[in-house]
Amino acid sequence: MKMSNMLISTLREVPAEAEIDSHKLMLRAGMMRKMAAGVYNYMPLGLKVLKKVEDIVREEMNAAGAQEFLASAMIPAELWQESGRWDAYGAEMFRVKDRGDRDFCLGPTHEEVFTDIARNEIKSYKQLPLNLYQIQTKYRDERRPRFGVMRSREFVMKDAYSFDKDQEGLDIAYDKMHDAYVNIFNKCGLDAKCVAADSGAIGGSNSAEFMVKSEVGEDDVVFCTECDYAANIEKAYSAPEKEEKQDFKELRKIETPNIKTIEDLVNFFKTTEKRFAKTIIFNADGKIVAVMVRGDREINEVKISNAIGEVMNLELASAEEVKKATGADIGFAGPIGIKVDILLVDEEVANMYNFIVGANETGYHIENVNYGRDFEGIVGDYRNVTEGEKCPHCGGKVTIARGTEVGHIFKLGTKYSEAMNANFIDEDGKEKPFIMGCYGIGVTRTVASIIEQHHDENGIVWPLSVAPYHISVIPVNVKDEEQVKVANKLYEELIGMGVEALLDDRNERVGVKFKDSELMGIPMRVTVGKKIVDGEVEFKLRTHEMEVVKISDVCDIVKNEFHKNNLKLR
Ligand code: ATP
Ligand code: MG
Repeated sequence: MKMSNMLISTLREVPAEAEIDSHKLMLRAGMMRKMAAGVYNYMPLGLKVLKKVEDIVREEMNAAGAQEFLASAMIPAELWQESGRWDAYGAEMFRVKDRGDRDFCLGPTHEEVFTDIARNEIKSYKQLPLNLYQIQTKYRDERRPRFGVMRSREFVMKDAYSFDKDQEGLDIAYDKMHDAYVNIFNKCGLDAKCVAADSGAIGGSNSAEFMVKSEVGEDDVVFCTECDYAANIEKAYSAPEKEEKQDFKELRKIETPNIKTIEDLVNFFKTTEKRFAKTIIFNADGKIVAVMVRGDREINEVKISNAIGEVMNLELASAEEVKKATGADIGFAGPIGIKVDILLVDEEVANMYNFIVGANETGYHIENVNYGRDFEGIVGDYRNVTEGEKCPHCGGKVTIARGTEVGHIFKLGTKYSEAMNANFIDEDGKEKPFIMGCYGIGVTRTVASIIEQHHDENGIVWPLSVAPYHISVIPVNVKDEEQVKVANKLYEELIGMGVEALLDDRNERVGVKFKDSELMGIPMRVTVGKKIVDGEVEFKLRTHEMEVVKISDVCDIVKNEFHKNNLKLR
C-alpha cells in the first residue's frame, strides 16, 4: 500500500480518554476511534490486525475439525425464554423491539441459537460429533466499559459450540479446543496461560480460562510457585490451615461496646484476626444467608453463589435484614441462635478451637466458641485464596497475579439441550439430549492484549504474524528520483513475494515517517537514502539496531524473517 493513498490517523498526543497502554496505542496508531462509551469504529489499520487474528483463529478452528457458521446477531426473545436466560441475563443484554412489538436482543453470546440450530438440524447420533463456530460481533451493555476494546459494549468474539452423544465425546471436543487455543495464542505471539475457572452451578473441573498476565487485568489468578496449579481466584482453592486440637472451653459472653470492625476487636481482645470467625449476612435472591470465615479471610462470592444454587443477585443484607436475623446492629452477628435460611461455614472455621464470634446482641461477643458443640452449618470452601498460602496440589506457596481473560472453554453438559428440548436419536433408538460444550475467544480483546504484551516507548511492536503490514519502505527524499525509483522497485519486489509492504511516499520529513512506522508497530523497515549510490540501504527490525545492507539482499533478509517466525510467504 502506498501511504500517500492511505488514511493515516496517527496521533502524537496521548488521548485523555485512554488509561492503559494498549488503548492509548490503538488510538495513537490510528487503529480505531471511539464513537460512544465502549463502542469503537475500526480504521483500516485496526481492521487489518483484527482480520489477521481472525484468520489465525479460523485456521486453528478448521484444523481442529470445527465448521464455520454465521448466526444472526439479532435473536428473538423466545429462544432466551426457553433457556430461562431472557430474565436472568439482566441489564447486560441489549434488548430491541420490532415494529410488531416483538422482543429481540442483540446477542451477547449464542448458546441458545446454536442449541436451536442443533435441534433442528441434527437428528441422529450418526451426525455427531459436531463443532460449529462463528466469528461475530457481540453486544453486552457492560456496567463499566473501559480500557478501549478490552471491555467494550460491542466486540468481536469467536464462539464455538460442540455437540456430542456422550461425555467421552465432550471430553475429546474440549481437549481439542484447549489445544487449538494454545496454538492460536502462540501464533498471535501472546503468552496466555490456561487456568481452572469457575463453572457456576455446573461445577466440577469443567471450565478453564486462557489468561494473559497483565497489571491491567481485571481478574485475579492464583498460581503455584512450585507446580503448574493455576486457577482464577473465583475457583482457586488452597489447603486450609488447621489448628492444633484443643479442649473445648466454656462459652463466655463479653461486653464489647462500640466495637464494629475486626480491627477494633483485635485491639480489644489483644489477639490476632485468626482468633475470630466473622459472620457476614447476604441476601441471595431473597434468601437470607450467613457466611462464616476466619477473621483474616475474605469471602468469595462466587463460591457462595455456587453453594446456594444459581443465584442471580447476591448482595450484602440491609441493616434491617441483619437486625431481623441477629436481633442486633451490624457488627455483632454470630452463628449461635442466628435466624437465617442458610448458614455456610468455611472449613477453616469448622477446624478452629475456642474462637470469638458476635453474640447476636448489640455490644456483645462470645468467646470459646466451637463448631459442632455450639452451632452447625453447611461446611465448605467459601474463602478467597491469599498470597503465600499452600497449593492444594503440592503444598508449595501460591502467588496471585492480575490477568486478562482472552478465552474460555466450558463443558456445558445438558444445561441448554435439556432446557430447550434439543435431542437426537442414539444408537439404542432412544432420544437423548446433546452433550454440549462452548468455547469463546475475545478476538478484539486479544488484539488489545497483544499490544499490552508487545510495545515500547515508541509504539506498538507487532509480532510478524499479526502485523497490519510487514515492512515499510521509506524513501528519505521523495524529490530524489533515484531514491524513489529504488524504493518503488523494492516495494514492488516485496509485494511480488507476498510481503505486505508499505511505501511511505508521502512528502514528509523522514523523521515523521520513522515515527509513524514505529508507532504503527511495523516489524521491518527499509530506508532508501543516499547510500543507494553504493548499492546499499538501511534495514531495521522494529526493536533492533539499524544495519546497512545491500539492496540486492533485502528480499532474502525479509524471507529469512518470515522463516524465523515460522510464517510462510505465498
Ligand atoms: P469477563 O469476565 O471479562 O466479563 P466473560 O466471562 O463475560 O468475560 P465470556 O462470556 O466467556 O466472557 O466471553 C468469551 C470471551 O469474550 C472472553 O473470554 C473475553 O475474551 C471476551 N469478552 C467478554 N466480554 C467482553 C467485552 N465486554 N469486551 C471485549 N471482550 C469481551
Ligand atoms: Mg462478562
